[in-house]
Order: sequence, then structure tokens, then C-alpha cells
Amino acid sequence: MEPSYPPAEKEQFSILLHKARLILSESGITGTPYLDSLLLLAHAAGMTREKILASLPETAPADTAESFYNLISLRAEGRPAAYLLKQKEFYGHNFYVDERVLIPRPDTELLVETAVNIYRSGLPGRSVLDLCSGSGCVGISVQAELPDADVSLGDISKEALAVSTINAQKILGKTLPSYNSDLLEAVPGTFSLITANPPYLTDKDCTDPLLVGRNEPLGALKAGPDGLMVIRRLAQQGFAKLEKKGYLILECGSTQAGTAAEILMNAGFSETRIFRDLAGRERVVSGKKN
Ligand code: GLN
Repeated sequence: MEPSYPPAEKEQFSILLHKARLILSESGITGTPYLDSLLLLAHAAGMTREKILASLPETAPADTAESFYNLISLRAEGRPAAYLLKQKEFYGHNFYVDERVLIPRPDTELLVETAVNIYRSGLPGRSVLDLCSGSGCVGISVQAELPDADVSLGDISKEALAVSTINAQKILGKTLPSYNSDLLEAVPGTFSLITANPPYLTDKDCTDPLLVGRNEPLGALKAGPDGLMVIRRLAQQGFAKLEKKGYLILECGSTQAGTAAEILMNAGFSETRIFRDLAGRERVVSGKKN
């Protein structure tokens, strides 16, 4: 049976918030039903959340109530709040996101941090390429942190590049050179540093109904029976396109780091290193081309 939502009519902000919180709690889809409701209400009303909290006894117009309940019903079906709000905070920047790109994960900040540290420790040159760039969160955050670096972006999805172009303008005030390319296949030149958050989930992981309900582009996640299909190709191609003493740094799943490091060594990399996140999980692997 279709869930029934209250009809769209003028309602107090406090009542909208209360009803939405109940709907979201019941859905079990989010651990933060009150916060999600508040953020979505602020979005629907075009107000800050502080303003909403200061206006709780006031009445919201019917069209605000209607668009709010639409957002809540999508959230209850599993749509991530970031897609509904059209934004996600990452590495201190506010990224525009929509269904054309994977939503930036806090985990991926470790990839940025590692890339910045390796860049600062000395590279043959300033050219940095972020592959599988998606929203642009990794490459744009690296560029914001390292103004003298020459960062470019590459993604197999033209639609993702449209989103990263919006974000480069929004966050850096300029566009970055961008390549529509299957990994490095259509990318000219060589690089001192290549970063990537490639797809690394197994095909089976990608059938999880919770993941499917998030409506993220599966092409950004799915990487064959063992989730390592893209990393294998990336290691080969990356080695060929790196300058001597350049680095490849990539994110992987917490159970994949040992194998990913082996893949890098087999592709010719030396000094492979594994980096752990704050929870101690092995999430980032680097290799140097000596
Ligand atoms: N960590 C992501 C997830 O669990 C996967 C990201 C990726 O495949 N690059 O959804």
C-alpha cells in the first residue's frame, strides 16, 4: 500500500517538523530523523535552519508544506539527504551534488590528506590528475589546499564532469582541465601525481537494496566479482603515465588494501604504502614509480 502523507495545506513549522520526524523514524532509513527533517524543511522553505527554529510557531505556506512532504517521502524511501539538499560538505567545502555523481564520503578525506602530504614531501613536478573524479571533491580539495599544483580531472562520465565543472567554479572560482576518459585512455601527457577514488565494490555488494535505494550511479561503485577490476587497470595505466618519482594514490575498501598494494607492485610500483583512517581501517594505498 502507498504510504499516505498529510495533504498539502498551511501548517505550523513545528507541526511539519514533528510529523516528518515521525515518518522518518518509522521508515528506519536514517539515524538522524530530526536533523534530516530540519534540514529538508529549511531547504523547502528557502530559510536557514536557525530561522526555522526561530519561526516554529509560525505557519508555513501550503506550497512549502507540499514540497517538504515530497522531500520527506523521498527520504523515507531511501534517497540520501545530500541529493535532496543538492549539497554535501567535504574537506571543509560545500559541494553541489545530484544523481549524476556519487555523494562524497567523509572516508575519502583520507585520500585528499595523503595526496597533499605526498605532494608537499616533494614530487618531480606540479601536475596532478584526479581520476574517477565524480563530483570533483578530491581534485578540487587538493587544488584548494595546494594553489601551486596544476590539477586536472578525468571521468568516464560526461555527466559527472558537468557536475565537477560546477564545483570547480563554485569552490575555486575557475575551471580545471577535464578529460572525458575511461581511466587514462584519452588523457594526454604525463603526471607527477595521480589520485583516484575508483569503483571498488563487488558486483554482489551492488545488489544490496539499501545501496540501490540510494540511487547513486552504479558505474561509480561497481568493479567486478572481487571489486578490483578497475584498480588493476588503473595500476597498469597509471604506471605508464606517471613521471619518474611520481606517485599513484588510491582509495579502496577496508579489506582490499593488501591486495591493492600487491596489484601496484605487480604493475611496477615500489615503496607501496597503506594508510589507515581514524578508525584504523586500511583505506588508501600509494605506490611510487622509481
Ligand atoms: N565507500 C563507498 C561505499 O561504500 C564506495 C566508493 C567506491 O566504490 N569508490 O558506498
